[in-house]
Amino acid sequence: MKRFETKTVLVTGAQRGIGYDIAKAFAVEGANVVMTDVNADGVSAAAKSLSLETGAKTLALAADVTKFEDCERSLEETLKIFEKLDVLVNNAGITKDNLVLRMKEEDFQAVIDVNLKGSFLMAKAASKSMLRQRSGRIINIASVVGQSGNAGQANYSASKAGIIGLTKSMAREFASRQVLVNAVAPGYIRTAMTDGLKEEAKAKLLEMIPLGRLGSGADVAKTVLFLAGEDSPYITGQVLAVNGGIYM
Ligand code: NDP
Repeated sequence: MKRFETKTVLVTGAQRGIGYDIAKAFAVEGANVVMTDVNADGVSAAAKSLSLETGAKTLALAADVTKFEDCERSLEETLKIFEKLDVLVNNAGITKDNLVLRMKEEDFQAVIDVNLKGSFLMAKAASKSMLRQRSGRIINIASVVGQSGNAGQANYSASKAGIIGLTKSMAREFASRQVLVNAVAPGYIRTAMTDGLKEEAKAKLLEMIPLGRLGSGADVAKTVLFLAGEDSPYITGQVLAVNGGIYM
């Protein structure tokens, strides 16, 4: 039997990048996978191709994590099709980088709204049925810069540090009902963005990473599956860093 057969998992921001890799890892392990994203066409195509590739049951939903009605609808649709939700992965995230002096107020707010408030709203919507069923896992995708800070990313690192506080508070609130809440803090992950870096910038970055390579979406997904599965029944309120040692 596959590790996540009979389980239903919802991943936000799943049409590409790390979210897609997380959805794929769960699909390969037999889960029913609900993929949500603001990009309606993108998420519908991604869910179709994932289902073709892995044979998993997938459900694509166009949903904006900053709107509570979209979060509630995501849960309603999930429960209608798959009857329960076992795992929520809050992955949707954006950046709007600038130095504090130049950062517009709306760019600070937009990043907090998607990354931090979006994680809260989805967890609020999902926790109702998880608390009722007395089981569930919530995994929030934070970032190394939420732990270390980063010049040019005050909004982003504040949102990710906020996710760590949110994770610990929810872990305490939900523990008595066996709903476990943890965060994963990725370091520099290979994406379209990092692929576009100049060789010199890439070499400098690699020098700072003890393991000597950028991470992959699959590296992050492996840790998410660990926190969602049966090998971590006594872990809650923790932040697992997947960063090649760049921040310890
Ligand atoms: P991507 O930009 O590739 O993917 C994020 C997805 O989230 C996109 O599909 C995006 O849609 C979607 N999204 C944006 N806003 C919303 C919203 N309001 N509601 C629902 N979905 C939304 O990002 P990555 O894969 O690189 O990152 C995934 C997560 O990992 C993020 O939380 C990020 O902060 C975190 N992370 C990434 C690192 C990296 O090196 N890449 C390092 C550390 C953490 P659209 O395509 O329309 O924008």
